Amino acid sequence: MLDYNPRNTEIQFVKGIGEFRGKLFRRLGIQTVNDLFEFFPREYIHRTVDAKIRNLQVGQLASMRVKIVSFCEITTKKGTKQLKAITTDGDRLMECVWFSFGSWLTKLLIPGSYIWINGQVKEYQGNKFISQPQIQEAKDDEEITSDFWKDRKILPIYSLTSKLTFNIVRNSVYNAFALYHNGIDETLPDFLIKKYSFLERKIALQKMHFTSNPKEIPKVKSRFIYEEFFYLQLMIAKNARYKTDVIKQKKHINKNILSNKLLTCLPFTLTNAQKRVISEIFQDMVSDKPMNRLIQGDVGAGKTIVTLFALLLAIENGYQVALIAPTEILAEQHFKTISRLIFQIGTRENHSLNQNIPINICLIKGGKNKQKKIDKERIENGEINFAIGTHALFQKDIKFKNLSLVVIDEQHRFGVAQRAELSKRHEYPDLLYLSATPIPRSLAMTVFGEMTVSSIDELPPNRKPVKTILVFEKNRLQVYEGLKSELSKGRQIYIVCPLIEESEKVDLQDAETLFEALVTDIFPNVNIALLHGKKSNKEKEQIMEDFSSGKIKILVSTTVIEVGIDVENATTMLIEHAERFGLAQLHQLRGRVGRGGEQSFCYLIAYSLGEMAKERLHTMISTNDGFVIAEKDLELRGAGDMFGTAQSGLPEFKFANLITDQYWLNTAKQDAFFIIDEDFELENEKHNLIKNYYEKYIVEKETFSNF
Ligand code: ADP
Ligand code: MG
Repeated sequence: MLDYNPRNTEIQFVKGIGEFRGKLFRRLGIQTVNDLFEFFPREYIHRTVDAKIRNLQVGQLASMRVKIVSFCEITTKKGTKQLKAITTDGDRLMECVWFSFGSWLTKLLIPGSYIWINGQVKEYQGNKFISQPQIQEAKDDEEITSDFWKDRKILPIYSLTSKLTFNIVRNSVYNAFALYHNGIDETLPDFLIKKYSFLERKIALQKMHFTSNPKEIPKVKSRFIYEEFFYLQLMIAKNARYKTDVIKQKKHINKNILSNKLLTCLPFTLTNAQKRVISEIFQDMVSDKPMNRLIQGDVGAGKTIVTLFALLLAIENGYQVALIAPTEILAEQHFKTISRLIFQIGTRENHSLNQNIPINICLIKGGKNKQKKIDKERIENGEINFAIGTHALFQKDIKFKNLSLVVIDEQHRFGVAQRAELSKRHEYPDLLYLSATPIPRSLAMTVFGEMTVSSIDELPPNRKPVKTILVFEKNRLQVYEGLKSELSKGRQIYIVCPLIEESEKVDLQDAETLFEALVTDIFPNVNIALLHGKKSNKEKEQIMEDFSSGKIKILVSTTVIEVGIDVENATTMLIEHAERFGLAQLHQLRGRVGRGGEQSFCYLIAYSLGEMAKERLHTMISTNDGFVIAEKDLELRGAGDMFGTAQSGLPEFKFANLITDQYWLNTAKQDAFFIIDEDFELENEKHNLIKNYYEKYIVEKETFSNF
């Protein structure tokens, strides 16, 4: 029997897609038929002639069919690229100009062929031109266009990044609807649909793809925006309301034994902000309500050490603790730094009277091995009281005997639902989250409604702001001079590339090619290493260790080093294809340097610059302040960040925009909290649909998608 549920049907089973195209769709994040239904057009193109070139008025939105005469790509003095095409309607000539474009566009602009264009008429030095028009091939013999689309006056335009064409996607969407539209489920209950006069989900989806009147789209789309906010807020409401009546079983008493010892072992004095935050955490820990606290502090603010005080407080109370990091490299680093400090505490302990607090620490990562099996047993019988690890520590087969505190580093990498899950499973331990990505204040309540927030709003003394320099690719030799000078001072360097190995599809500087070039041509006598996610764990560990110890001078890597890595002597960060990264991610990467007292540098290498990328990079040059960057990030978001949404600290939205859709955000929040306050477990019959959808698709997805 065929399963006609679009959520359970993989994309390759749609007529006309198959294995090969299925892979291309997956690259766009489309796994199932339902994902395809929710793959909304970015815009719509009108195939109606409403203008002649000779009649065009400046400011008008024109739609017409033109023939391409010629085209060229030019680089302006400022280094930005433009694409220009001369077109004709058989009567006059007219220029079309694109300021940002993908390589697919150049492939469509074949001289002699016809295209439909939709775009705004502008004027430059007396000449009218069409700025950044949408285009659609106007071949009459498009063998792959199904009859359905052939005569449609309005066509959807999708954001495509791989080899897929508009026609393939349009036909696939059409075929998918033909077979699966009956399986489209409703995700909002009747009373909410009525309340806002939304369209039913099935009809709304159809309209998104097959509209004959794009003016209706904002209204149609609003239900999806609302829906997305609603379920997020439902989760937040559940987290927020859970804690109120729980009394925690594992209370802490501040004995000040280990924290005093730790203080004497530190090679620096704590900043006032760090001291304040530690005392805020301690207050939570000795209270009888479970702690649910977020520590915000810009990159390099010194969050790790603050949590160590909390972790030791729990340990001196006889409990177990866990510290969870989003990557193995970071978990590894925490394990090393903390083990070292604890060893020092141990050695001092011999000279004091309190020798009776053992600290047994282990590192848990993914996969299976002997050591892990032993460690798991020792966690279960309570012998190990300090577990550090990746999300592997979340797994159900890791059973703690008396876990009282969990610290989650770089918490924005984990899902909202995990917070609830974690609390429940371990009988409400104290929870401490760390995040370097500041959330704009306006949104903090929305996203972290249920947490109390502490800010480490002060960097350790003697830190110098990182100098950030934007360099165009063609001038890269200049940068190498800068690198050489840092190397000669004994400093180390990170070089980050967006890809690992050369790919035919995307023309990006990849880590492997760059690595080869650096090793053979540029720095033949320097110890350079290449690090990426595909290396074995052993190799990764060794490389990181050699970089930390200063043996490796230049580390070429992908973004695996993005979060948390802390090597003081590394003073230069070079980011290839900086234009491809989102702001939050650039800020995180830059945060790897400037961690000691030395002047540090961040080179942003750009290959071409669209408007948005230009804004992002100029933001990076103009400020080191994470809050300013977060605000700007939010303002620019949704406008073509290729990488990076996951790094922002905010959940990833398919449809909603936190800035422009605030009305729906607030509305959905009110509704969600109202429902949870009335019926926490969603047991009431009228909440059946919400409960089912929430449990089946939202919690599940949120919990696992981020790994
Ligand atoms: P982040 O907040 O980005 O996680 P880390 O905890 O990795 O920052 O700390 C960055 C570096 O600053 C570490 O090497 C740490 O030892 C050091 N550090 C932390 N606190 C202080 C301080 N008060 N004075 C000087 N250095 C500090
Ligand atoms: Mg950190």
